[in-house]
Amino acid sequence: ATSRKANNIIQPDFKFEDLGIGGLDTEFSNIFRRAFASRIFPPDLVDKLGIQHVKGILLYGPPGTGKTLMARQIGKMLNSVDPLIVSGPEILNKFVGQSEENVRKLFEPAEKEYRERGDESQLHIIILDELDAICKQRGSRSDSTGVGDSVVNQLLAKMDGVDQLNNILIIGMTNRKELIDDALLRPGRLEVQIEVGLPDESGRLQIIKIHTAKIRENKIIAGDVDLVELASLTKNYSGAEIAGLVKSASSFAFNRHIKVDSVAELTQDISDMKILREDFMNALEEVKPAFGIASEEFE
Ligand code: ATP
Repeated sequence: ATSRKANNIIQPDFKFEDLGIGGLDTEFSNIFRRAFASRIFPPDLVDKLGIQHVKGILLYGPPGTGKTLMARQIGKMLNSVDPLIVSGPEILNKFVGQSEENVRKLFEPAEKEYRERGDESQLHIIILDELDAICKQRGSRSDSTGVGDSVVNQLLAKMDGVDQLNNILIIGMTNRKELIDDALLRPGRLEVQIEVGLPDESGRLQIIKIHTAKIRENKIIAGDVDLVELASLTKNYSGAEIAGLVKSASSFAFNRHIKVDSVAELTQDISDMKILREDFMNALEEVKPAFGIASEEFE
């Protein structure tokens, strides 16, 4: 196995701050330490340590917290070929037998590359969104077709089959970790499990900065908008909801400048348009967090 070249996969010019992800530094460095660090060791050290590279990660947590964003960026950070992204409901197919085939196909490019060229240096990432969808039915009496069962089994077989394959990384995602089949979470499978929760205040400030970067750069934001204040007012907002908040504030500002009685008016000069604090206050009324109240005590 000494001839294997499964290292040098991290982009040399990679920087955390370039990822456009706010408030998930700890999560990212945990993923890095637990799942990728071994991949940048020299191959002979990997052999000496007897390390098996991590093949699977599970990202779990509420909707809109940046799991998909993170999975895609991991693909960019590692020298991966374009990740294959598929969701649980997409895998499940109304034609019997097709679902297993869909799973099998996901692994094909990486397996082929290794079979034909013995090359493991190019990482293949498989992103499985809404992974719970294929697990839910496993063993459940209400599922007469047993489709979920066989799909999970096929996935397990494929993951175990890649035991010696170092060029595959699977990233599973779910809002409901408790629905994920235990068998999928064992060592050698989706063994690194990272919770991606709602951002805290400093995380929210980072996310607000990311989503207002453009309007700040173009000086479309008024001087009375205080990003620190917004971070404190957005308790329980997810990253996606913060993005929605900024959009909503822009729409209030835009609304002051246009008259809807004529489409031609839309082309009028809006170069003096500014998004004010007041627009953000209106937006806070319009865009509310889905997961409120219950998590209040955690901050
Ligand atoms: P779901 O569970 O619903 O699939 P998710 O956790 O995968 O949600 P994303 O699809 O990654 O959430 O987030 C949706 C959008 O929200 C992103 O494209 C981004 O614009 C914004 N967003 C979410 N979280 C963050 C974050 N931590 N930093 C910056 N932007 C974020």
